Amino acid sequence: MRRYVIAGNWKMNMTPAQTAAFIKELAPMVAGKDKCDIVLCVPFVDIAPAIEAAKGTNIKIGAENVHFKESGAYTGEISASMLKEIGTEYVIVGHSERRQYFAETDETVNLRTKAALAAGLKVILCLGELLEARQAGITEEIVSMQTKLDFAGIPAEDLKNIIIAYEPVWAIGTGLTATPAQADEACGIIRRVIGDLYGAKAAEEMIIQYGGSMNDANAAELLACENVDGGLIGGASLKTDKFTAIVDAAN
Ligand code: PEP
Repeated sequence: MRRYVIAGNWKMNMTPAQTAAFIKELAPMVAGKDKCDIVLCVPFVDIAPAIEAAKGTNIKIGAENVHFKESGAYTGEISASMLKEIGTEYVIVGHSERRQYFAETDETVNLRTKAALAAGLKVILCLGELLEARQAGITEEIVSMQTKLDFAGIPAEDLKNIIIAYEPVWAIGTGLTATPAQADEACGIIRRVIGDLYGAKAAEEMIIQYGGSMNDANAAELLACENVDGGLIGGASLKTDKFTAIVDAAN
């Protein structure tokens, strides 16, 4: 039995004061909706106020990225132990915007994942194909390869702390959404690769979210797919009513 995880990715939005106000508004709206885990991944400076505002609620807080080194001359970066020490629970790794604008590769995604796991963080590992790949009919090859590279050297006992977010790049922030059939098929491919790497039980237990313009109107049909275990939500996670509607769909 896999549990739904509904996670927001705020990207570069919200100040610390806006963060506290948002969570105060959201908390009563999602209170008691415990059939899914609810996570908000927020900009670094918003993490501490988010944790404070979310105390005593069912909202968990995550970061949007983490560096793979423990410390050193990496100006502007944040380590996994820094995130852990202030109470961060989750971290997004490998988001397509990081891959596209900040030159992240499957190799660095793999290193970041390992660093986050070593520090005791839960990882939301994003992967997904570009529009060109889908049009060329090579989605399966791309997501399979990404899964194998991103999980290289990650031991089976760490899988319980990893969520995969299948995010077709052409659907992120574009208003285009994968059809339920497309989402289910791609999540199923990823689940099969996890099975090849770690065995059938691991594949069965792996939580695989869909992300890409999920919103209050399309969440229910996407979440109804056999292989879709939740959502990673950008734009719609910035509005308490829309985000709550997605939590409701999961419940
Ligand atoms: C995301 O940021 O991971 C995302 C899926 O964004 P959006 O929901 O806005 O497409």
